[in-house]
Amino acid sequence: MKVFIVFAHAEPRSFNGALFRAAQETLRAAGHEVLVSDLYATQFDPVSDRRNFTSVKNPDYFKQQIEEMHATEVHGFAPDVEAELRKMEACDLMIWQFPLWWFGLPGILKGWADRVFAMGRTYGGERFYENGVFKGKRALLSLTTGGPEAAYQKGGWNGDIHAILRPIQRGILRFTGWEVLAPNIVYAPVRVSDEQRQAGLNAWAARLHGIEREQPIQVGEY
Ligand SMILES: Cc1cc2nc3c(=O)[nH]c(=O)nc-3n(C[C@H](O)[C@H](O)[C@H](O)COP(=O)(O)OP(=O)(O)OC[C@H]3O[C@@H](n4cnc5c(N)ncnc54)[C@H](O)[C@@H]3O)c2cc1C
Repeated sequence: MKVFIVFAHAEPRSFNGALFRAAQETLRAAGHEVLVSDLYATQFDPVSDRRNFTSVKNPDYFKQQIEEMHATEVHGFAPDVEAELRKMEACDLMIWQFPLWWFGLPGILKGWADRVFAMGRTYGGERFYENGVFKGKRALLSLTTGGPEAAYQKGGWNGDIHAILRPIQRGILRFTGWEVLAPNIVYAPVRVSDEQRQAGLNAWAARLHGIEREQPIQVGEY
């Protein structure tokens, strides 16, 4: 299997960094090919505008989706966007490793999605959801939180984590055809012991060993 991991944390020694390294080591040891995009290390530019393109459809008025459809026709994506598109198109499984920020993606990863999920190339026409461009591929969010698990239950302090992840899992991934696997969530790594953090790393590695056999989840029932 080809696995593409997108990593969004500025500190390599962070717990997110440890999860990122554990995933690479485990998957490579299991014989999978691993592609990565380390967004901070490579200083991925998250600002979405004309810089996404080498082509121009309308020089007078910038409308991103019109330019995306044109770039799809004329191979006009900027090299940084094109490189990410090719990794997504090549992989069987895509993993995003990130800390939850303001109930969502860190800006660098949101900007990555804004630039890379281009109309024409990744969705559009009749190609949405079960007929989406990435049909047959699987995607998985691997994230950490500041808040404890109890805060992320229905009726809890922050509410249901699945509702929080819905805009990402359904609005981006499932919308463009990916089969979504259950998220890997390590709650509040800052607040627990080294042993508990190590257990979180071990559980992630153990899960990745059998990842080929996992079934997707429903992402729209809440
Ligand atoms: C802008 C912003 C918005 C935020 N919004 C939210 C929000 O909406 N909801 C929410 O819940 N939280 C929020 N947070 C908190 C954030 O989600 C957490 O701080 C983050 O998820 C913790 O992960 P980390 O990798 O940064 O942890 P770190 O602080 O890097 O790591 C935690 C501990 O793990 C240790 N560690 C590292 N590697 C290993 C290893 N191999 N083995 C054992 N221990 C190790 C580290 O030394 C550290 O002690 C927000 C934070 C910011 C900055």
